[in-house]
Amino acid sequence: MNRVSRRELMGTALGVAVLAGTSQGRAAESPSPKTGTRYIAAYDTESPACLQACRKIVEVHKRLAMPATFFIVGRTLEANAAEYKTLFADPLFEVASHTWSHKLLRDNAMCGRAVSAQEKREEIFKAKELIEQVFERPCVGLRSAVGFDNGLKGATDVLELVRAAGFQYVSTLLWGPDCSMPALIETPFHYGADGFADVWELPGHGWHENLLKNHNRWGAKRLTLWPSPMPEAIPSQFVKTPEDEARINRVFLDKAREEGKPHVSLIWHPWSLHSFDPEMKMLELTFAHARAVGLIPSTYTDLYRQIAG
Ligand SMILES: [Zn+2]
Repeated sequence: MNRVSRRELMGTALGVAVLAGTSQGRAAESPSPKTGTRYIAAYDTESPACLQACRKIVEVHKRLAMPATFFIVGRTLEANAAEYKTLFADPLFEVASHTWSHKLLRDNAMCGRAVSAQEKREEIFKAKELIEQVFERPCVGLRSAVGFDNGLKGATDVLELVRAAGFQYVSTLLWGPDCSMPALIETPFHYGADGFADVWELPGHGWHENLLKNHNRWGAKRLTLWPSPMPEAIPSQFVKTPEDEARINRVFLDKAREEGKPHVSLIWHPWSLHSFDPEMKMLELTFAHARAVGLIPSTYTDLYRQIAG
């Protein structure tokens, strides 16, 4: 009973938002509203189970001519470099770093403590070198392991390493306020306030989809904000079907479009997508919706070039 009411409420809230035209006044915040809102399919590729998943993901992307950014952990790439090189060879795909071994670059209240200065250096430098060696093209972006609710603001030691390694963008703002889910639809910014105007933050949005499905076996957690800035994006229970997941995804795609945001990109993990939805039905549903509402399929590098170029 409770669940039904909640779902009906969510539908009503969404309908009202659409009718009210929530874009007023917000579009001016985005760097280039004329170019529209980009949709970036991105994958944190980080464990052995990701390989089989990526075979299916890549097939869907090629069939639908959808670009993607694959953030890959150095050790994951090292274990199957030849096959990943073949899989990601298509010009539709950007390959960027997801650190060397998925260690934390700063503290995260939900996920643990930052590693030592020496380990941070290895996490930042080593995967970039391997990616460039394997794929023979520049690796310009870094997605941190797990992400943070303040990105790299104030983490000048990490920003120093990011700059020294030659990254142009990071994607580390991946949580909502107070380390909550979902991550809100934040716009790109640079770290000029910390002295790093040449390093851009390109946030990720929505849920870490593995949490939506209890794939981390965390069970019930204090994960959402109250009051919530996006109650329509918080289901009353773990999602059960690809359709459930696609329905949540649409909330973020629609809101980004309505508010004229520069981009929207959900935080996906091949291993988790594959164990939940081996046919990758959710991908097709989400990509179809992105196209139906006029989002521009892109990679993170495309977004970086637009805002910084
Ligand atoms: Zn990860």
